[in-house]
Amino acid sequence: MTIWSKADIHVHTRYSDGHSSVAQVLEHADHIGLRIIAITDHDTIAGAIEAQRMARGFDVEVIVGEEVSTADGHLLVLFLERALPPGRPAPETIAAAHEQGALCIVAHPFDWLVPSFGASLLRYCSGDNPAWPVDGVEVFNASLPLPGMNERAASVATALELPACGGSDAHHFSTVGLGYTLFPGSTADDLRQAILRGDVRAGGRAWAAGHYAAVASLRARRGLARAARAVTQPISFRSTGRSR
Ligand SMILES: [Zn+2]
Ligand SMILES: [Zn+2]
Repeated sequence: MTIWSKADIHVHTRYSDGHSSVAQVLEHADHIGLRIIAITDHDTIAGAIEAQRMARGFDVEVIVGEEVSTADGHLLVLFLERALPPGRPAPETIAAAHEQGALCIVAHPFDWLVPSFGASLLRYCSGDNPAWPVDGVEVFNASLPLPGMNERAASVATALELPACGGSDAHHFSTVGLGYTLFPGSTADDLRQAILRGDVRAGGRAWAAGHYAAVASLRARRGLARAARAVTQPISFRSTGRSR
């Protein structure tokens, strides 16, 4: 009998705009019995590398990932060795990822509140020889605030015959695992092979109102702390270099 496991392929930490430390994320993932997490901070792999190092103390395997802000929208890149720069066109980012043997999953394609592929998914990711050869689509993102965004992603992924993945888009440890990708096997390599074969399923439940409230209040507190620091910093005047 095949054993299926859960992987959360979309998790942020304090290394980008998340509110939890790598240790808190790992502890929670271990606590809820999640086998695999990909740390996918915005445009950095520093937190993912720290997580991979720390994971030895937990029953969790960590995939080094990055949510790359491409010029065409957010792209989850999994199994990275080197960080990819933001701001490049999607096809360039996809090619650079594949050169490293990494996989590219389109993040929240129909979330129009943040930069997303949108209709480009239909235009450039379809057919046998697509212009943007992605490896899968995030058809369930637990953080999406409006109904229909995930449903549309799921129906387009089905139409394009692209593997359907799920992630939490956690920005606080308590939401880790709310969205997940189910795959046969139990290791990160099993997940990788399953995505390549298209043998994955997406699942989960949306963030609850309390999760949005918690993240909003943490953001507000962080903003206030930043403002307080700015106010208490001494004002320095720079000389123009001109002499009278
Ligand atoms: Zn995103
Ligand atoms: Zn994200």
